[in-house]
Amino acid sequence: HATKKTMADHLRKFESLFTLTPQRMRMIVEAFKETLELGLTKPKQIVPMIPTYVFGWPTGEETGDILAVDLGGTNLRVCLVTLQGAGKFEITQTKYRLTEEQKQEDGQRLFDFCAECLKTFVDTSLADETSGLKIKEGEKLPLGFTFSYPCSQERIDHGELIRWTKGFGAPNTEGQDVAAMFRKSLEKFDLPIELTALINDTTGTLIASHYVNPATKIAVIFGTGCNAAYMERVGDIPKIKNLGIEDDAEMGINCEWGAFDSFEHEHLPRTKYDAIVDDTSNKPGEQAFEKLISGRYLGEILRLVICELIDEGVLFLGQNTYKLEAPYAFDTAFLSLMESDPTDELLMVVGIFSHFFAVETTLAERQFFRALARLIGRRAARLSACGIAAIVGKMGYLEEGCAVGADGSLYNKYPGFADRVHEGLVDVFGDKGRNIVTHHAEDGSGVGSAIIAAMTKIRK
Ligand code: ADP
Repeated sequence: HATKKTMADHLRKFESLFTLTPQRMRMIVEAFKETLELGLTKPKQIVPMIPTYVFGWPTGEETGDILAVDLGGTNLRVCLVTLQGAGKFEITQTKYRLTEEQKQEDGQRLFDFCAECLKTFVDTSLADETSGLKIKEGEKLPLGFTFSYPCSQERIDHGELIRWTKGFGAPNTEGQDVAAMFRKSLEKFDLPIELTALINDTTGTLIASHYVNPATKIAVIFGTGCNAAYMERVGDIPKIKNLGIEDDAEMGINCEWGAFDSFEHEHLPRTKYDAIVDDTSNKPGEQAFEKLISGRYLGEILRLVICELIDEGVLFLGQNTYKLEAPYAFDTAFLSLMESDPTDELLMVVGIFSHFFAVETTLAERQFFRALARLIGRRAARLSACGIAAIVGKMGYLEEGCAVGADGSLYNKYPGFADRVHEGLVDVFGDKGRNIVTHHAEDGSGVGSAIIAAMTKIRK
């Protein structure tokens, strides 16, 4: 019995599994840079580097009342944005929760639901005199539709869904023009609204962040999913050369970098828990980078480690653990809570396990869980740093430095996430890595969407 392992012994194994060395990070960055270039050169690559048809940065002088609908991974949000010029704006919004069933039901019904929520919002805003919203006879309100799934676009108000991500699976949608589908739903509800721009949340975040902080060159999202956007010179996007757009024009690129290393699994350090997350997901093989990083998966990775230790008889012997054994039962928000527990006894962790999972924990176990959360959260942040470093390196932003607009619950709520990204950048670049600073972005999927819709109006 002298060989019985303590929780600290178990932890050591996971430390080596989940730790990323600076050297390994630099290898990932190199592979990532090549992948980004490949996506710009040839169509239909794993990381598709999607041209967004958002041309250049906003001037800050865009004005008007614009609606925005944001179909994120977790919520549906409807906003009215009033752009006042000079970089100023006001926003009112309502959130509607999406059920798991809605994510899997017929695509047209999903868009009908979006249009119905939009109608409720517009009717309420029109009835409310303080909202300031008025629509003149025969006039249509512009709408920016933030649809944060990979779409291939030929112009700003169109986009074919390449594939669903983030757990969505609505049939009859992949391969279709989602802007046209949404227009059809808008017609059903007879709304005086014109869908002028279909955008990705990363592109919106890029534009909205630049609107308030012109040092912004890159935007990243760490929410249910994980993705990035930046501004590219058209001449450096070989795959769209034939469109005849002038080389020196600039266009936003939606990287869809969550797909990095999909199928090949050559570059990223995957543990067996990551492999299980992948195999049991609704899209095995896809979104390999995202599955190591984003909010949808971090809790699940930790849960799988716990389940293995339950099976091995290390944890919760004699207790009923069925609640912990349900897939996705352990939300990533629990990792945040565990990491921020200020008490020596880890009372927050006691509460999570007893209240949500009906199991009792020892202090040693709780310390183990918290340490495990740190490992998983830290790995996610350092991998994110690799993605940012790849764009920075490719674009040559290191010397001058740049701001990176970042958004999503993981970035905004996970304690220390931003610091860990910054540490990761220093591990990749050395001291110069400090020139790259992430900051909480302006509301990209609302305000950004509206600014892009307004930019589009001006350009027409
Ligand atoms: P979306 O990406 O769907 O637009 P969010 O940015 O809010 O929305 O991301 C939702 C994801 O963030 C969920 O996967 C959830 O588990 C995770 N999440 C929510 N709250 C927290 C938190 N406090 N800490 C870490 N992750 C969180």
